[in-house]
Order: sequence, then C-alpha cells, then structure tokens
Amino acid sequence: MTQLIQLSGIGKSFLTQEIETRALSDISLSINQGEYIAFTGPSGCGKSTLLSILGLLDFPSIGEYHLDGLKVSDLSRQQKATIRSEKIGFVFQSFNLISDLTVYENVVLPLTYQKSSNRQLHKQKVKEVLERVEMTHRANHFPSQLSGGQQQRVAVARALVNNPAIILADEPTGNLDSKNAQSVLKLLEQLNREGSTICMVTHDPRSSESCTRNIDLLDGRLVKDEKKSISNNAFQLESVLA
Ligand code: ADP
Ligand code: MG
Repeated sequence: MTQLIQLSGIGKSFLTQEIETRALSDISLSINQGEYIAFTGPSGCGKSTLLSILGLLDFPSIGEYHLDGLKVSDLSRQQKATIRSEKIGFVFQSFNLISDLTVYENVVLPLTYQKSSNRQLHKQKVKEVLERVEMTHRANHFPSQLSGGQQQRVAVARALVNNPAIILADEPTGNLDSKNAQSVLKLLEQLNREGSTICMVTHDPRSSESCTRNIDLLDGRLVKDEKKSISNNAFQLESVLA
C-alpha cells in the first residue's frame, strides 16, 4: 500500500479577538492510496479544519504534514496551489458552484489553472466527467436552474476533472434529500473502487457505510480510528496481506 498522507502531531489554534480556539490537538495518522475514510464527530469537533489542512487550504499551527512524500511546510504558496490544482478535488456541502458560469464553465475551471492549456483536450475531459455524473444534458445551464442533487453532481464532476489523487468531501450530502444523497454517495463509492482516495466528513451514519475506515473526532482529538473488517471489504484484505 502506498502511503499518501502522513500527519504527525498536528494541532491547530485560531486566534480571534484575543480568544484562542483550539480546533485540533495532536492528530497523528497516515492514509494510504485507495482508502475511503469517513471523518465523523459532533459539530465543532474540528472535522472541516482537518479537511482544510489536508487540502492545503489551511495550515497547522504545530506538527508535520507530508503529502505524497513532500513536507508541506517546506512548500511555497505557489507550490501548494499547484499541488491543489493537480492532486486534490474538493466537494463541499453547499456545492460552491459559481452562479454566473454555466455547468460547462464551472467544470472546466480547474483545468484552466493548469500550465498546459489545450481547449480541445479540456472539452473532451469535461465531456467525460459530465457523462460520468449524468449531467451532459445540462452543460449549458446555470447552477440556479438545477436541483440541489444536480448541482452536487456538477460539483463532483468539477472535483474529478483534473484526475485528482485525493478527493476531499466536506458533508457532501448535507444539503441533499436522501435520494440525491444516495446518488452522490454511489458516485463516490464507484470512484473509490476505481482507485481514488477519498476523505469525507459526514454527520450521517448511513453515508459511511461504503467507507473502508472511520475516524472519529471529539474536541479536536482523534478518539476512534477503525478499519472495516476483512470479510466485507476487499481493500482491507489487501492491506493485511501487504
Ligand atoms: P466541524 O467541521 O467539526 O463542525 P470546525 O473544524 O469547523 O468543526 O471547527 C472546529 C473549531 O474551530 C470550532 O470551535 C470552530 O468554531 C473553530 N473554528 C473553525 N474555523 C475557525 C476560524 N477560521 N476562526 C476561528 N475559529 C474557527
Ligand atoms: Mg464542518
């Protein structure tokens, strides 16, 4: 199993109006390629903060983070931005699509940040991921013309368009009814089966059913880290035999 992420003694404090909030304390964990992890825990326990750090959107106050062998604290802003755009796909609870861009324009956006820009290639790639999430027929619509479930499928397409090594999803089903939630979860499950590493924050115990590992946080600390049993999970079998 190839190790993708290594966190050692990660802590994060926020200082607002002289009040210090400790969002994360002493988090150490490693994540292998191909894992599908559900991060759970009560509101305010640090799940989103942890995901932001994993996604290089925020940085730890203390501790070390290695991503794909690179020590993150040694990287420049520019290097981090490049890694974000090449290796990481984000899905948020509130979809975060840009309202005055069409579905196509939203999905192509991450590609336009990359160094080598080729319009024809972009078009092909967007077509592929829109087919994948069954949204091809809405390519020229604006987000406001779509249902919540459709918007989230577009957001998943946007997260996938650059073939990221890691998908980070922060309560991706939090604003969806159960039918749409199921379709987004099914999509994530398929992506994981095809090799994507997924870290998903979730409130909903049903969401974590297809995950290979559950990490539970409480008051910024890791209180449970459980891999699913061998019998119902091929991935687990591999990691035991490795
Ligand atoms: P969760 O996602 O588990 O609900 P968060 O990671 O959003 O929790 O927040 C963890 C703690 O850190 C909370 O007490 C929250 O108020 C605080 N926090 C998060 N982001 C900030 C910020 N930018 N500034 C100040 N405090 C923050
Ligand atoms: Mg949160």
